[in-house]
Amino acid sequence: MMSSDVRVRFAPSPTGALHIGGVRTALYNYLYAKNQGGKFIVRLEDTDQTRFVAGAEEYIMNALDWLGIAVDESPTHGGEYGPYRQSERKEMYKQYAMKLVEEGNAYYAFDTSDELEAMRERLKAARVASPQYNALTRTSMKNSLTLSEDEVKERLDSGEPYVIRLKVPRKEEVRLNDAVRGWVMVHSSAIDDKVILKSDGMPTYHLANVVDDHLMKITHVIRGEEWLPSAPLHVLLYKYLGWEDTMPQFAHLPLILNPNGEGKLSKRHADKYGFPVFPLNWDFKNEAGEMITSEGFKEADYLPEALLNFLAFLGWNPGNEQEIFSMQELGEVFSLKRVGKAGTKFDIDKLKWFNQHYLRKKSGEELAIHLSTQLQDKGVSFEKESLPEVCEMMKERVTFVHELYSEALYFFQAPTSYDEKVVNKKWNEQVVEGLTAFLEVLPTITEFEAANVKQALFDVLNEKGIKMGKIMQPLRVAISGVAGGPDLMSIIVFLGKEEVISRIKKAIAEIKVA
Ligand code: GLU
Repeated sequence: MMSSDVRVRFAPSPTGALHIGGVRTALYNYLYAKNQGGKFIVRLEDTDQTRFVAGAEEYIMNALDWLGIAVDESPTHGGEYGPYRQSERKEMYKQYAMKLVEEGNAYYAFDTSDELEAMRERLKAARVASPQYNALTRTSMKNSLTLSEDEVKERLDSGEPYVIRLKVPRKEEVRLNDAVRGWVMVHSSAIDDKVILKSDGMPTYHLANVVDDHLMKITHVIRGEEWLPSAPLHVLLYKYLGWEDTMPQFAHLPLILNPNGEGKLSKRHADKYGFPVFPLNWDFKNEAGEMITSEGFKEADYLPEALLNFLAFLGWNPGNEQEIFSMQELGEVFSLKRVGKAGTKFDIDKLKWFNQHYLRKKSGEELAIHLSTQLQDKGVSFEKESLPEVCEMMKERVTFVHELYSEALYFFQAPTSYDEKVVNKKWNEQVVEGLTAFLEVLPTITEFEAANVKQALFDVLNEKGIKMGKIMQPLRVAISGVAGGPDLMSIIVFLGKEEVISRIKKAIAEIKVA
């Protein structure tokens, strides 16, 4: 792909673990950059120190890394437009707030919190539904629009605390073009005079976000729908700062909904349905002050490629029937045009389906590495060389890698219990007779191969007048303990003659004939 000027950013606030919706935002930004041959930037929006959570930045970067979302510029990767943490850019913002004041597009406000509260009470009493500091109410408040120039100067000189508010016009249609929603029109009377610089001299989200997007030459702002209400205010900021010509293209991504379609996907709902909402484990203190871990998709054994493929479809579709896409392929076909407006349900079964798909695509050798760790952890002895074969036999039958262990344990250990249903329904004297006869011929099979074993079993049953169909499931249960699994003859050959003899003997001894 040709390189281009496209620059997109993922701009999380380090206030906790990254929610799966944030991961989708990062992914769509990344895919758009890939598609356009542009750059993907991570900027930390950490101006609100009261909400800062230690470890959150590292968590975010680790999550992107696990998913293979490669970052071009960030606090850790560096880049020519840094620093990439807003807390390290503090000094930069004030001049823009001042420019806005000087040109009459923003103003100083000295109101105390009591005065602000009193205004809200006043407006509520006058039945104003949502009391706001705006073009109407600002006229009765303490700010540089109502106070005399001298008084403003005096207050500033004496070090009185102040904030800077944007002077939002009273009657103006603010228009913005959104790549997902088309033209969005908002009347300025619906926008309040937002604080852009706080009394501690720090910018609020709005100012810092717009200034940084401009200075970092961001061409497309791709973010969640919850930011759409802020966008008209951002448009005004671009206009007043004289940056309208280079204003980024907005794209507000649709909401991710709870599995029942009701409301935005929440941790509470995810807990109820039993699936994670964070990419990686996140340790946090609960209300009782205890440290608890919220399990991540990684630790819940989801494969990163499955999660990516799944997330790609939570709001986008390729316009055809294809469902399986590698990251590379997604980068080739992704476009903002195919991002929908409507919220999409989080369907955990679909994610499991993707997981199964990607697990099956892995080679026995690759899966053997995981199985070997699990067997070792549980103190089960095994021959390393045999693991890939077991994984090949089992991978069609599991959804998660850890199930290779739980479902395949009988390859390494004789069963200690036997499927009750099969035992109750099918284990009888005839079965015992057939298996006993089989035990006699087993030692005589010279080449212990699937076809030979099967033939020997068939012959011996034939002699006794027992149907093969009566024996197969009980034999499987005698050998593996469970009713289902890969081809029985393959299991028998894998285990070897001696082990098979010993397991059949054990089963005959332990299973009671009804
Ligand atoms: N800091 C905002 C967040 O936490 C960024 C919103 C945006 O992308 O503009 O999501």
